[in-house]
Amino acid sequence: MEFNRYKKYDLHCHSLVSDGELSPTELVRYAHGCGVEVLALTDHDATAGCAEAAAEANRLGLVFVSGVEISVTWGKHLLHIVGLNFDVENAALQTGLAGLRHQRTGRAVEIARRLAKLGIDGALDGAQTYVNGQILSRTHFARFLLDNGYVKTMQTAFDRYLGDGKKAYVASEWVSLAEAVAWIRSAGGHAVIAHPARYKLSATKLRRLFDEFKQLGGAGLEVISGRQNINITKNMTDYAKKYELRASIGSDYHGPSQTWSKMGQIPLLPDACEPVWELWQGT
Ligand code: AMP
Ligand code: MN
Ligand code: MN
Ligand code: MN
Repeated sequence: MEFNRYKKYDLHCHSLVSDGELSPTELVRYAHGCGVEVLALTDHDATAGCAEAAAEANRLGLVFVSGVEISVTWGKHLLHIVGLNFDVENAALQTGLAGLRHQRTGRAVEIARRLAKLGIDGALDGAQTYVNGQILSRTHFARFLLDNGYVKTMQTAFDRYLGDGKKAYVASEWVSLAEAVAWIRSAGGHAVIAHPARYKLSATKLRRLFDEFKQLGGAGLEVISGRQNINITKNMTDYAKKYELRASIGSDYHGPSQTWSKMGQIPLLPDACEPVWELWQGT
């Protein structure tokens, strides 16, 4: 497989298997139409879309890379760790992901209970109607709240009810950073910190995270994530260099209703970065 810096990469996006809006096939077709040449599907806590996406990518001549976005609890923070280019059949990884999906079901019941206390009934069944794949996400609750007139935008659903510390927020103990990295590595893949600027960590905490992640065998961080300020890109480029982490790039595309985000429009990696895909040369 030939990977080079000037190809159009998108190594972070979602399908109906998690909280995206397109089927894996539709997503690959859309990515191809946007000029993406190397694509990873990274559904939350699930890889069930990878086979279908790979088959469609193969038909279209697009390079497909297996992927997943794992929910991690780090201290009191929820982090997302992306796994790339691993063996999807790996038992340790799949057992771990199944556990996370089970936790999601329990959390959903509790979110619905809290919403009911606030006078919003039927949220669990309501959210379920949007689930096409394997996981139940806050995104599905947000769609239920939006479509039933409780909020005017998805953002408001998070700001008022579902976001961290809001009225229907349920803190969960996902997996540790060490476990997530270990699963990805045991499946032969590379672990990448998703959208590092979105956790609102202080500079000190961010440094601690990079340090710990590197020690655990983490491979890289998303230097470019969809809709990102240029200063953040500069910052992340510097961190990647300092911690000897590779750079990844992804839109975090969820579907057409995310009108601000399209695939194939994210910038190339800055020249100073060492791309994560260089690790895949010859695989
Ligand atoms: P979960 O993994 O179920 O906790 O849900 C988190 C998902 O909610 C993220 O992956 C995003 O897709 C989505 N999300 C988080 N914050 C927002 C927001 N402010 N507006 C819209 N979607 C959001
Ligand atoms: Mn999502
Ligand atoms: Mn994420
Ligand atoms: Mn994502």
